[in-house]
Amino acid sequence: MAETAERSDAPRERMVRDQIEARGVRDARVLAALRRVPRELFLREGLEEFAYQDTPLPIESDQTISQPFVVAYMTESLRLAGGEKVLEIGTGSGYAAAVLAEIAGEVFTVERYANLAASASERLARLGYANVHVLCGDGTLGWPEYAPFDAIVVAAGGPEIPRSLREQLAIGGRLVIPVGATAREQRLVRLTRVAEHRWDEEDLIAVAFVPLVGAEGWREGAERPSREPPRAAPSPLS
Ligand code: SAH
Repeated sequence: MAETAERSDAPRERMVRDQIEARGVRDARVLAALRRVPRELFLREGLEEFAYQDTPLPIESDQTISQPFVVAYMTESLRLAGGEKVLEIGTGSGYAAAVLAEIAGEVFTVERYANLAASASERLARLGYANVHVLCGDGTLGWPEYAPFDAIVVAAGGPEIPRSLREQLAIGGRLVIPVGATAREQRLVRLTRVAEHRWDEEDLIAVAFVPLVGAEGWREGAERPSREPPRAAPSPLS
């Protein structure tokens, strides 16, 4: 039995070592979470054999489950100590929500596609993640009923940081989001709410997420923002 378990965990262990630790993710909570969540169970039938490869994979509705390293890096960037209330935008398969749920106290996750929200919710419940709550809706507006959040992570790229999300951060809270002038290429940005009206912004790494589509994101079917981002105008935060 033990031998079987060891054998079936080996690809996941190798993934954590070679793709995640090797690239500098050091947070013990994050590494432990990645070691526990069975990524193969979040994939479409037939793709299980690719579960521990260093790549994003297709899920329903033309969306993707993120590359394991990116999930690890973003989770580490949230600087979770354990027990927090976390908001995720872009549930997708539910994989990143499961990783977050291994560390945080409660995870609230919003997905715009009803089929993805339903299957992720069912899958997370089946795997015993009772601390994950899934909502189908426009995540650019956050989930105001449960705000403020200690951490917010956005798994899709927007043209700017949605105001609703920065407003739903607790003081001291961190928001990690891909932001880019085009819909498919972004910089990962971390915003820390240091006071009621003050947010510090840090540039992290280059990423390539699917577009964040919604009232405070990209317009449906287009590569243009719902509202023009205040590119030339001076930012009220700087
Ligand atoms: N975290 C996911 C990856 C999801 S990919 C995982 O681990 O599998 C990004 C997801 O964001 C897609 O499912 C997409 O439908 C969703 N999305 C895009 N814009 C959104 C919005 N405004 N609100 C909620 N979800 C959104």
